[in-house]
Amino acid sequence: MKSGGVAFAGTLDVSSLFRNRKDVVHIAPLQAEGMVTMKRPNICEVNGTATTNVQYRCVRCLTEFTRRLDTSIDEVLSRVPLTEEQEEAELIYVPEEAIDLDPLIEQAVVLNLDVQPLCQEECRGLCSVCGADLNVATCVCHEQQVDPRLQALSQFYDTPKTEH
Ligand SMILES: [Zn+2]
Ligand SMILES: [Zn+2]
Repeated sequence: MKSGGVAFAGTLDVSSLFRNRKDVVHIAPLQAEGMVTMKRPNICEVNGTATTNVQYRCVRCLTEFTRRLDTSIDEVLSRVPLTEEQEEAELIYVPEEAIDLDPLIEQAVVLNLDVQPLCQEECRGLCSVCGADLNVATCVCHEQQVDPRLQALSQFYDTPKTEH
């Protein structure tokens, strides 16, 4: 058993993972690099980083913007089944002879992607009435708010009547 580590570097396309997310418009191939180090005969450590640019769509105003994603990968893998203690320490059981780093990198990216991407923290979003982008426009909708009691009444009359 040699001590020391093996360096890795490469690109990984993860765009298919986010095909269902409407707020992730495009994710460029990841640039991943790092080191795999044998700690003990069946235990190795993976340390690295994965970076890319993500084009998001703001969940409030729908504007597209690009943000850099920097993810670190720090995992300990075991080739033999984990003890309870190791499970609690979140070691990963990888029975295969050859370690496939892709799933580890993918998971790290999934966990680090913005869950509710906002173009800016204070994004004011779109007006729920007229659809104006309130970051760049003003509208008068909220000045004409209907009295809640009348609002309920108007909803009542909007409900389609069912035939009996
Ligand atoms: Zn926004
Ligand atoms: Zn409006």
